[in-house]
Amino acid sequence: MEPEIQIQGLSKTFGKKKNSGKALKDINLTIESGEIVALIGPSGSGKSTLLRHLAGLSCGDADSGEIRVLGQSVQCKGRLSRDIRKTRARIGYIFQQFNLVGRMKVMTNVLTGALGRVPGWRGCLGLFNAEEKALALKCLNRVGMDAWANQRASCLSGGQQQRVAIARTLTQKAEVILADEPIASLDPESARRVMEILADINSQDGRTVVVTLHQVDYAREFCRRAIALRAGEVVFDGPSEELTPSLLASIY
Ligand code: ADP
Ligand code: MG
Repeated sequence: MEPEIQIQGLSKTFGKKKNSGKALKDINLTIESGEIVALIGPSGSGKSTLLRHLAGLSCGDADSGEIRVLGQSVQCKGRLSRDIRKTRARIGYIFQQFNLVGRMKVMTNVLTGALGRVPGWRGCLGLFNAEEKALALKCLNRVGMDAWANQRASCLSGGQQQRVAIARTLTQKAEVILADEPIASLDPESARRVMEILADINSQDGRTVVVTLHQVDYAREFCRRAIALRAGEVVFDGPSEELTPSLLASIY
């Protein structure tokens, strides 16, 4: 079977100057279905750029290389093909700043984000069927946020918003979840809760999770495998328990 995520020879330069703007240098990685992987490394090492390429989120074309997710090449040159769109719908993305629409209800955020239907000024009456609403509520329940379904997203704390963002990817039935610094803006208690939920989704539902983290302790605790980037290169790829202080000193 083809690996869930396969990156071959991926290089990415921002701007015209070679070397100075080199964000990723010849990245080769394979991630299997059902893995939970922490992506670590100092600020500016290329973690977000790598994750965005995996999601097929536009940050300009890669210089070279091949990225396959769920058996499909996700790089787009110009216009999005139907196949890439279909694959993107199977990839959930979680942002540091949650990316909810503050004035919309939690439930609408989840459904709109997951199913791609945007309510007009008259609201979302009839836009989603009972089955879809029931699924969204079930996913909100899974992250402990069902009681907030009818609140505006702007009323929630950061940790609560991030849990809603996770419910959105669950409603989307994303098979691969990519999370870019999902806990960087959260207090320790909320951060732990979010990591527990991501780990639970991975172990219970077998979804593949790739998460960039600042705190190496969380990587060790929640992710079996860690990949470290430094200046756009993979400098470690192995069990997170092997991230010893001396190794970390050479990475950071
Ligand atoms: P990390 O997420 O590890 O902090 P990034 O992937 O955000 O690192 O950035 C890697 C490098 O690419 C950095 O040098 C950053 O300045 C550069 N970079 C990232 N995005 C852009 C962009 N849109 N335009 C120009 N340079 C960028
Ligand atoms: Mg980043």
